[in-house]
Amino acid sequence: MKIIVYSSKPYDRKFLDEANRSFAHELEYCSWPLTPQTVRTADNKPCVCVFVHDQLTRAVLTSLKAGGCELIALRCAGFNNVDLKAAAELGLAVVRVPAYSPESVAEHTVGLMLTLSRKTHRAYNRVRDGNFSLDGLLGFELHGKTVGIIGTGRIGAAVARILNGFGAHILGVDISPNEVCTRLGVRYAGLEELYREADIISLHCPLTPETRHLIDEAALGKMKTGVMLINTSRGAVVDTDAVIRSLKSGKLGYLGLDVYEQEEHLFFEDLSDAIITDDVFERLLTFPNVLITGHQAFFTVEAMRSIAQTTMDNIHQYEQTGTCENLIRL
Ligand code: NAD
Repeated sequence: MKIIVYSSKPYDRKFLDEANRSFAHELEYCSWPLTPQTVRTADNKPCVCVFVHDQLTRAVLTSLKAGGCELIALRCAGFNNVDLKAAAELGLAVVRVPAYSPESVAEHTVGLMLTLSRKTHRAYNRVRDGNFSLDGLLGFELHGKTVGIIGTGRIGAAVARILNGFGAHILGVDISPNEVCTRLGVRYAGLEELYREADIISLHCPLTPETRHLIDEAALGKMKTGVMLINTSRGAVVDTDAVIRSLKSGKLGYLGLDVYEQEEHLFFEDLSDAIITDDVFERLLTFPNVLITGHQAFFTVEAMRSIAQTTMDNIHQYEQTGTCENLIRL
């Protein structure tokens, strides 16, 4: 199949080429994202392969269909950037990679927790500067703390499994509780209880109309003073302005982000020589108790290999049978 691969970086090409060896699809890589301005580059390609920041709006999907596209293959689990209703109406199939090493994101999540709780991000710079003072580096232990996990699916469960080893108590919130988590000793609760009890809150639900700005002023107001909030799910689950106000007041004690509401203007690019005009993002960077990574939680060899393999398998399955086990249904 002819496949155009948008937003592709050298590392995407490496893993996709490797996975394509047993299929021999015709891959055309472009570094630019799929947008209303670039959509015509997909003309005459039956398959479009995209990532988290590609814009699959109704207008873009309509142009894709007109250009001969049949299949949209997401190289990710989340699909909040796709207008699924429009895709269904246009008869475009959308497939995704539902599970690829949830441990990649879970381990990064716990890494953010430990870095913030032990202030290693600050210690790293101090020691390099010959400053061996411990003032300001007093940490806290995860052992015995209550961690609230919102969204106890594959990644949430992997986080729970790791935190079990630390001796943390785990509260879960989910619209559909997970047996695996119950067996791990996760106690399901309501959001109110989780906000009230948790010392650390970690977000692992998808971005949906229901979860957009789930963590807003009101939610933050119900949390413990000094709580740690970790978001490795999708940026807009958190209301960034509300979080900044909460950090300024001291209510929010620690913030670890791998995702950010406006990240498509920043992440995955080297902007070290550019002037960043996003003042909200720049404000976040000024807090000593905020740690941000640029959507890298998934970025391990194991996950990249698995994403590439599943993407190629999805395309092959669709080409052979006209359907796919990883088809997203409305
Ligand atoms: P999953 O589908 O296995 O789990 C999501 C869980 O959230 C499900 O159990 C679901 O029932 C629950 N949920 C849905 N709506 C909810 C709500 N309103 N309140 C509470 N729970 C709700 O997905 P996953 O593989 O665990 O991934 C979770 C999210 O992580 C993805 O949607 C994606 O946005 C994000 N993600 C981020 C990265 C990264 O690199 N930072 C990588 C992969 C996935």
